[in-house]
Amino acid sequence: MSDSTKKVVKRIRINVDKCNGCRGCEVICSASHATPRYSSVNPSRARIRVIRDPLADIYVPVFAGEYTAAECAGRDQYTIDGKEYEECAFCRASCPSRDVFKEPDSGLPLKCDMCESDPTLEEPLCVQWCLADALTFERVEVDAGAGGAAAGVAPEEIDAGLEALAKTYGWSKVIDAVARMSRNGNR
Ligand code: SF4
Ligand code: SF4
Repeated sequence: MSDSTKKVVKRIRINVDKCNGCRGCEVICSASHATPRYSSVNPSRARIRVIRDPLADIYVPVFAGEYTAAECAGRDQYTIDGKEYEECAFCRASCPSRDVFKEPDSGLPLKCDMCESDPTLEEPLCVQWCLADALTFERVEVDAGAGGAAAGVAPEEIDAGLEALAKTYGWSKVIDAVARMSRNGNR
């Protein structure tokens, strides 16, 4: 019998030491999220970005996480195995400090969806394309209360999405569209 206090969550484990900076993960992610699907390849639309410093042999794959409206007031510096990393190298947020994890045309924040699809993928595409095994997929059982925030959408994310659309199309068109959709949804 299944334990109702537990749930299964999907997780991608990142091994920074194995990443060689090939950017295959960015390619497949952006292609699979293009409209129509696979019609273009543009890593700036990918939900995973590889922070690269080839001279220092530093490659850090980072997945797009939550949108945040404010940037950090300070920065921490990390030293790991003699290599220097800035805090931003590990950060998953789409934020005002940098351009990553924003849709290039509209400015909409991007977020990894673990390749949501029907039928469900056995493994996310970036994991399948990572020949260096820097990315590995796992399903883990956690307490039902944990990970709730990841499943929901933060109100700031909705605000950011609407603001980006308004910048492109103007508030009146956005408001008209929302009103129309809400009328259709209530029928
Ligand atoms: S899991 Fe899927 S959506 Fe997320 S970064 Fe990888 S390819 Fe992109
Ligand atoms: S596909 Fe794998 S090895 Fe290549 S950049 Fe992405 S995480 Fe690194």
